[in-house]
Amino acid sequence: MSEHVDVLVVGGGIHGAGVLQAAAAAGHSALLVEERAPASGTSSRSSKLIHGGLRYLETLQLGLVRESLREREILLRVAPQLVKLTPFFIPVYDATTRPPWKIRAGLSMYAALGGFDRDDLFQRLPKREWDQLDGLETRGLRAVFRYFDGQTDDAALVRAVLASARELGARVEHPCSFLAAQRTDSGYRVRLRDERGEREVACATLVNAAGPWIASVQRCITPRPLCFEVELVAGTHLELEGALERGVYYCEAPSDRRAVFLIPWKGRTMVGTTETPYRGDPAAIAPLQSEIDYLLDTFRHYMPTRPVAQLDAWAGLRVLPKLPGNAFSRPRDVTFTYDDESKPRLVAIWGGKLTGYRATAEKVLASLAQALPQRAPRADTASLRLPASN
Ligand SMILES: Cc1cc2nc3c(=O)[nH]c(=O)nc-3n(C[C@H](O)[C@H](O)[C@H](O)COP(=O)(O)OP(=O)(O)OC[C@H]3O[C@@H](n4cnc5c(N)ncnc54)[C@H](O)[C@@H]3O)c2cc1C
Repeated sequence: MSEHVDVLVVGGGIHGAGVLQAAAAAGHSALLVEERAPASGTSSRSSKLIHGGLRYLETLQLGLVRESLREREILLRVAPQLVKLTPFFIPVYDATTRPPWKIRAGLSMYAALGGFDRDDLFQRLPKREWDQLDGLETRGLRAVFRYFDGQTDDAALVRAVLASARELGARVEHPCSFLAAQRTDSGYRVRLRDERGEREVACATLVNAAGPWIASVQRCITPRPLCFEVELVAGTHLELEGALERGVYYCEAPSDRRAVFLIPWKGRTMVGTTETPYRGDPAAIAPLQSEIDYLLDTFRHYMPTRPVAQLDAWAGLRVLPKLPGNAFSRPRDVTFTYDDESKPRLVAIWGGKLTGYRATAEKVLASLAQALPQRAPRADTASLRLPASN
């Protein structure tokens, strides 16, 4: 076996791409293998928001919100062509579960966690401006708040991060499947399969960034590392004809009061998302008719005069690991597991957010530092501009 790399990454979604870029930026030789095509999993089926996550304030996940807002600012700087600040409108009706004072308090806390940056300013819109909001229902409307958050093209972001990693010397292979890995004295011996057949690669460290397939990858590693029971939760989005002009609308679904976004997206309107437990093959995930009806009902409820022509519908999978100690724990933050807590050579990335991919990748690299050789860093991912076209 002649091939050897410092870091071998399984999975070409945003997390795998981020780790590959961070590894190459730190001066390491790095290889990413992706079974299908880059961004073919969850990372092309998200709500495409680069945001702190206003609703995580209610569960007091302040660290997650603060880090996400910090990452949003970094991405606005390093990928201005891909990450844009967009106005978000929160309409508050008689039936809305959160009253205006609560929304104001939440937005104030959001601004504080963002460091009262200019991007964190929010406003209660005067009533005279309500009729300029893309046809938003005004019956029963009590207040509309506007704040700013980020929007991106998730698949293009993955491609840009991979391109950046390549520019720093990393390699990406697809379609190429991870089949198995065996622990050795100096790392792992990994069996891969591509169109030419099977081969083995030696690596000092291995990163499992296989998203919804994470548990099946863990099960192919010897000795078997810690593997959580995972709950996969499907989220569907619709694409409707015609774009919203003013920005994103942050609404409550009339039937169950869950948050649903109405999002302008490449000349169309995206509506999402849902949360439906899923037990099948991750590759076979598809929207259910009940989810489509739920989203259409929500759109019609808030935009009653707009025509509704559905052009597309797609679904992605959240990975919610059940952590030991609490069978019902389903954190939205990322969780890491290691083969060896004192000197890890294997890290698995459970869950996480598109927004936090860069911080997540840097944490993965830091946890592997002891097992990696000393190299001269090539770049800092917090200031390295992502390539413009991909
Ligand atoms: C509906 C929905 C909306 C969301 N909206 C947002 C949002 O607006 N903002 C935000 O910040 N986050 C959002 N998220 C979260 C975010 O999208 C995910 O955390 C992120 O995309 C996960 O990326 P990943 O790289 O871990 O997984 P994936 O993107 O799924 O990538 C895993 C990759 O591994 C590959 N793979 C699997 N097995 C193998 C193997 N054996 N060999 C080689 N390759 C393999 C797969 O083909 C796949 O490409 C959302 C998630 C969902 C489900």
